Amino acid sequence: MNEAALRDWMCRHGESLHQRGLAHGSSGNLSARLDDGILLSPTNSCLGRLDPRRISKVAPDGRLLSGDPPSKEAFLHLAMYEERPDAKAIVHLHSTHCVAVSCLCHADPSSVLPPITAYFVMRIGKLPLVEYFPPGDLALADAVRAKAREHHALLLANHGPVVAGKSLDDAVYNAEELEETAKLFLLLAGRSTRFLDGAQIVDLHRRFPS
Ligand code: ZN
Repeated sequence: MNEAALRDWMCRHGESLHQRGLAHGSSGNLSARLDDGILLSPTNSCLGRLDPRRISKVAPDGRLLSGDPPSKEAFLHLAMYEERPDAKAIVHLHSTHCVAVSCLCHADPSSVLPPITAYFVMRIGKLPLVEYFPPGDLALADAVRAKAREHHALLLANHGPVVAGKSLDDAVYNAEELEETAKLFLLLAGRSTRFLDGAQIVDLHRRFPS
């Protein structure tokens, strides 16, 4: 996909995420990696009304190359790209069910959602929780960087998910699968539930190697 098409596609995905309540107000941001920079949704922009001509283009170090200034959360994306050379796009949301899960007390912060469905296992796998930092605290970039080496999806405590993908579509679908899984997890809370077991997970990885 060339840069112009990617800019348009970011706007289409942004609009869709906003319309379905996955990105309210000016929350959430999208990015896509090009050969000569990174496209990012601008600061204070509503994902439902992105303008392809005003999307920020930044260098890997965050320097603005063109367009409006990028989201204040650009550093989350840059940290993830730095650690994951295969990541072509990243979605960060404050989507309700994921944020709810991010506020719960977790016995094992290295994995905060169980293997409820095969789709969650295939698209996300293990979801670690990143400790809480206030908005804009650059220490969050280091915390993200440390976990992004092993995981393409992270949940920021009392904040929301950061999810990478092999394409913009892939990153958006991963983020949507994660939000649906968080919703299921909350719906099932307190009920006797059968999750996928270790053998079933191994079988999925064998049938659908990533
Ligand atoms: Zn955020």
